[in-house]
Amino acid sequence: MSASYAVHGPVAVITLDNPPVNGLGYGTRRGVADGLARAQDDPAVRALVITGAGRAFSGGADIREFDSPQAMREPNLLSLILAIEASSKPVVAAVHTVCMGGGLELALGCHYRVAAPGCKVGLPEVKIGLIPGAGGTQRLPRVLGVETALNMILGGEPVASEVLAKLPGQRLFDRLIDGDLLAGALAFAAEVADQRPLPLVRRLAASHPNPDAYFQFARNTAAAMAKQFPAPRKCIDMVAASLELPFDEAMRLEWSTFTALMLTPESRALRHVFMAERAAGKIADVPADTPVRSVKRLAVIGAGTMGGGIAMNFLNAGLPVVMLETKQEALDRGVATIRGNYDAQVKKGKLKAELAEQRLGLLSTTLDYADLADADMVIEAVFEDLGVKEQVFRRLDEVMKPGAILASNTSTLDLNRIAAFTQRPQDVIGTHFFSPANVMKLLEVVRGEQTAKDVLATVMQLGKKIRKTCVVSGVCDGFIGNRMVEQYLRQAFLLVDEGSTPQQVDKAIERFGFAMGPFRMSDLAGNDIGWAIRKRRYAERPHMQYSKTPDLLCEKGRFGQKTGAGWYDYQAGKRDAIPSPVVLELIEGHRRTLGITPRKIGDDEIVERLVYALVNEGAHLLEEGIAAKASDIDMVYLTGYGFPLHRGGPMRHADEVGLFNVVRAMRRFQRNPLDDATFWEPAPLLARLATDGTTFG
Ligand code: NAD
Repeated sequence: MSASYAVHGPVAVITLDNPPVNGLGYGTRRGVADGLARAQDDPAVRALVITGAGRAFSGGADIREFDSPQAMREPNLLSLILAIEASSKPVVAAVHTVCMGGGLELALGCHYRVAAPGCKVGLPEVKIGLIPGAGGTQRLPRVLGVETALNMILGGEPVASEVLAKLPGQRLFDRLIDGDLLAGALAFAAEVADQRPLPLVRRLAASHPNPDAYFQFARNTAAAMAKQFPAPRKCIDMVAASLELPFDEAMRLEWSTFTALMLTPESRALRHVFMAERAAGKIADVPADTPVRSVKRLAVIGAGTMGGGIAMNFLNAGLPVVMLETKQEALDRGVATIRGNYDAQVKKGKLKAELAEQRLGLLSTTLDYADLADADMVIEAVFEDLGVKEQVFRRLDEVMKPGAILASNTSTLDLNRIAAFTQRPQDVIGTHFFSPANVMKLLEVVRGEQTAKDVLATVMQLGKKIRKTCVVSGVCDGFIGNRMVEQYLRQAFLLVDEGSTPQQVDKAIERFGFAMGPFRMSDLAGNDIGWAIRKRRYAERPHMQYSKTPDLLCEKGRFGQKTGAGWYDYQAGKRDAIPSPVVLELIEGHRRTLGITPRKIGDDEIVERLVYALVNEGAHLLEEGIAAKASDIDMVYLTGYGFPLHRGGPMRHADEVGLFNVVRAMRRFQRNPLDDATFWEPAPLLARLATDGTTFG
């Protein structure tokens, strides 16, 4: 049982005890129900307190029970709350630290609530595509007012207890208790022990002076901001129901809405992402208690596009950074860019000027490797050239103190070779940031053959500290993300040869939900980058069929936004992609040269070819052990490549479509004379799972 029972004088105390956050799993619910029953039967007990052990009152549902029948096992949360309401003796919730989701719903079912200041209070269900399902949408508006409650339910973000306790007219907290919460709660319970009738939130009325206009406004906002997700609209409907329907009827509607949302692909995708995010931090052979090295001072080599952004991450986290370059001008340029970024944030009101200065104060620069000697970790972000990396790593090996971590931001080079330039390959690791490095969430942590476990654990922890989503990748050309995107782009280019236009391809995949189609993305990243990679591929894979159209584009100097022209035209200073007659002419001319009669390609085919190209390469990565879990690949694509969140990532999307159907589509693409049949040969893992009728998940 994950709840304890104790009697303190006239008050029984039920303490939720299910680490880490007292999730309301079956054992916890059972424990509370038993405690309630005991207290009813004990004549010496005149009131009850429910509180939480350790670091939370309760974080809500136990995620280990997600999607299992155990979540509904009686007493389920709804029955438990009814039992609390029905208690003949007053029940006081004593909340502290974290009171979220089902935890808050449980507290709202109690007769009284007292809170410690600094407690995070919220209903985050919307973040996993749900509405609160145990009365949250009905009780919160009754204690906080419709607008505050709806804002909290729609936003899903916690609000501090002391902020809520100060709201005029609030009925959420009966008392804020500074100091010893349990002592305060016991005193409060004794005070109210004889109060009758017992107050119930369900008996309060929810009201709003102008409900029609208000809910219309809320619906319009939700429609604009959360198009792909049904849950926000349902949250609004349910809060509106708190005004319109009798309590029990609204509760039945809340329950049926909640269970219907549970089955939507959007909620299942968001739940998948929730779990995937947590799973990404777990590495099978690196236990959670692996000791980590202390990283308090960093060094960054190279003050270019990536070096500057990388440095900012650490400055923002309050860690001093020394940046090294070969020339003073390069340092000056790099520092000016960093300063410019901070100034822009200050101008937009996103950052206080003093804080920007404080962060800049943590940055120092040098031309001398001797100044790196006291850094605990160095990240190299110099030119992508093995010779240059060799020079840098040999120097680092000489100057860095023993135990320092040596990281490379290389995107394509072999990390094992880089590690071999040093006498300490166990201390070398890849940290593959994405551009702009101070903004993008994704960090691929590249594990070399000899990277030590504590180095890996340290970098994963540091990544969290700078608020990145860290995903471990093995060593290969392109790591997880770029190796997959290459296959995706290859399809995009072939689609254009066969009859699509760049706009059509972009629109189709953007309608599917991608933030940006492949052609707009290439124009943003620079078409010359892909060109350089393809030149290598032509030599490595002479038999593979590639579209030459992107090369013709590059030969015309159309590198994308930076040159004002790429797959699209751009006006000076603007980022809007304008369809280009020149590009259309180039595409048509090339088709004539190849003797291709263009065909009309449907949006479905475009989406399937682009996405299944990702999925098949993802399956290869899993098979080769470059990616450890399918959900890691999903996290890479969601956080680094704008894959639609409501689909949960490419691998999860394939599972949703059904791997059998994915393979069938690939077999169909194998018959396309303008593509390679070998390209569409399902990866053995994919073929096996499809045959077995199972999933990547
Ligand atoms: P960049 O050209 O903008 O910057 C490189 C900087 O390194 C320059 O300022 C240069 O002066 C400096 N430099 C070169 N040789 C040096 C040396 N021996 N010692 C010290 N400084 C030296 O390049 P970038 O785009 O910032 O890329 C840096 C690294 O990051 C590369 O390995 C690249 O593959 C990788 N990367 C780039 C991106 C991206 O989108 N640009 C994304 C991920 C990874």
